[in-house]
Amino acid sequence: MTKVDYNVRNRTAVIAFEAPPVNSLSYALRAPLLEALERAARDASVDAVVLIGSNGTFCAGADIREFGSPDVLRGPTLWTINTVLDEMKKPVVAAIEGVALGGGLELAMSCHQRVALSSAKIGLPEVKLGLLPGAGGTQRLPRLIGVEGALNVMMSGEPLPVALFKGSPLLQRVVDADLVSAAISVAEEAAAAVKEGKPLLRARDLPVREPDLEALCQFARNTAKTAFKEYPAPLAIIEALQVGAAKGFDAGQQEEFAQFKKLVDSPVSAALRHIFFAERAAQRIDDLPADTKPRAVTKVAIIGAGTMGTGIAINFLNAGIEARLLELNQEALDRGVQRIREVYEGQVKKGKLDAAKLQARMDLLKPVLSYDAIADVDLAIEAVFEDMGVKQKVFAQLDAVLRPGAILATNTSTLDVDQIAAGTKRPADVIGLHFFSPANVMRLLEVVRGAKTAPDVLLTSMTLAKKIKKTAVVSGVCDGFIGNRMINQYFAQAMAMLDEGASPEQIDKAIERFGFAMGPFRMGDLAGNDIGWHIRKRQYAEGTLKRPQVVADRLCEMGRFGQKTGAGWYDYKKGDRQAYPSAIVAGVIEEVRKAAGQPVRKLADAEIVDRLVYALVNEGARILDEKIAQRASDIDLVYLMGYGFPIWRGGPMHYAESQKLYAVARRMRQFGEQEGGDANFWKPAALIARLATDNRSFNGGAA
Ligand code: NAD
Repeated sequence: MTKVDYNVRNRTAVIAFEAPPVNSLSYALRAPLLEALERAARDASVDAVVLIGSNGTFCAGADIREFGSPDVLRGPTLWTINTVLDEMKKPVVAAIEGVALGGGLELAMSCHQRVALSSAKIGLPEVKLGLLPGAGGTQRLPRLIGVEGALNVMMSGEPLPVALFKGSPLLQRVVDADLVSAAISVAEEAAAAVKEGKPLLRARDLPVREPDLEALCQFARNTAKTAFKEYPAPLAIIEALQVGAAKGFDAGQQEEFAQFKKLVDSPVSAALRHIFFAERAAQRIDDLPADTKPRAVTKVAIIGAGTMGTGIAINFLNAGIEARLLELNQEALDRGVQRIREVYEGQVKKGKLDAAKLQARMDLLKPVLSYDAIADVDLAIEAVFEDMGVKQKVFAQLDAVLRPGAILATNTSTLDVDQIAAGTKRPADVIGLHFFSPANVMRLLEVVRGAKTAPDVLLTSMTLAKKIKKTAVVSGVCDGFIGNRMINQYFAQAMAMLDEGASPEQIDKAIERFGFAMGPFRMGDLAGNDIGWHIRKRQYAEGTLKRPQVVADRLCEMGRFGQKTGAGWYDYKKGDRQAYPSAIVAGVIEEVRKAAGQPVRKLADAEIVDRLVYALVNEGARILDEKIAQRASDIDLVYLMGYGFPIWRGGPMHYAESQKLYAVARRMRQFGEQEGGDANFWKPAALIARLATDNRSFNGGAA
């Protein structure tokens, strides 16, 4: 419940505000908070005020749900509260425990003094949402800790331990316990000083002491332009700070407000806020019975110590969970253990890990060769060869030895999880846990829910994902699940555009300029083109691949699997990952085009980008309609965390909405109708056609 308590102790009013879980400053809290401050100002029995958050934390900032809604500017705003604090005649002391972040820190900085518990953290994380601290943060912080420190705090957005600011005017006192008593005593001292005629300590009255302001800001600007090229917030922060430092607090605050309004309306901030909510939404499983409880997982087995198995094991070791690694033979097992050790040794070399931690992690790793040695684990994750026969054999063995209640998971990328489950006597305990390569690095985890997967198995997987620091997204069973099913359409378009006249370099460059970390051809060369070839051969046999990818097949027949064979879509030089355009590949493309007898044309970069991105979007919409994904924002997360989609564009589905679904559907139809176009491929998914007509968005709201 949101409430503000007002208690007078001696002659100090202790105002405790509460808005669970993190006391965010929504309108519902701002209004009674302002009232309490005004009451203290009028209250003749009060000489000073202590402001404290309830529930062990000060305040985590603004209520992000209000951004983009009229409530963000509904009075009283945080600006109103800060102005009232500036005008107070009685000292107000902020008592900080837990966190004071964003608007929470801005509120604290508008108080006259601050006392913190040593365990508390403070920060201005607005930059992470594409915003700046818009309630005086860009003005008060440099006055309290200096320009350079303030720039670092605001540009990083990280929560920082209060110890870093001990001794600066930002924090009058840091205590290990008894926060309220300490704050009251600081407040009483301040009240006594006021009685002696001393002025209140207002951050706004402090000078900005920085002889090299211009140079420092220029340096910060240059850094921002290279490190955060697509993000407008860092530059806006520097601008607001510099104006305030050069022209005074009020001018600075005006600049800050103008910049804030611009950023709130910017597509980048909309995308970053979308991701913030997407990450929270993804944890919800809509149809899970409310009384579902996760199973305990303390021991894990991983079957297969190859690329994926070793990467998966590292996740558990890092989280302090015992991992047994099972292989076919000693040699493969030793190789796997060595690979894990090498990853940790690499981290020690980089100073990210110490020798003791390396040993502690390796101690949690138990290499084994027999299924009997894993009989008591709570979860087994299979990461053996991508072959149904091999996987079914492994599952039969797991089924035979694992204790009742253990979870049987597969890391398959393409195989039918239901078919794997059907081979066991406990399909309710079977689930897909699709990690991405390198599994110890990539944050994405697709949790693949089989037709018979039990609710508590699903919940356990989601809970475990959090423990091993993965972003989990639930997917239903289909070929490729969410991510790879979509990427197949993206690759299909890349191949079609090759046939029509574009080169691998042009296609890669165009989509990389759009912001993808890597274009489809460079990505193929990195992952290994043989993986796709292997899948295509199965799809040709099943008749599920409509359009043969002749050039890709031809290159694989030539052994051009990518970086690992020194040649793929590009040529590579030994010891160099740089991709060099290949005359051989150009020759193959030329030959295949000639044989097909199709007209060849020059494709504009804009067409390349739209076709690649809208191929993802169209398949994403089908996935949503078929309820393979629970929500559009889950699909966005898959692409942002697992496929290098540019973060600042918010994911393919969010991007399509920002372009308006009507326009997207129209463009798809144009691609289908143009000369040589594939009308079947470009038929807008039924969901897109429906939403475009109704002017609605993927989440059901108005477009
Ligand atoms: P890999 O060839 O590197 O490793 C497979 C390992 O499994 C080998 O060490 C092999 O000795 C072992 N193995 C085979 N049969 C076994 C058995 N019966 N019992 C115990 N061990 C056995 O393969 P990988 O790239 O790690 O792929 C493993 C799985 O992960 C596949 O299903 C693959 O589709 C999936 N996957 C791979 C990637 C990727 O990018 N490599 C990404 C996601 C998922």
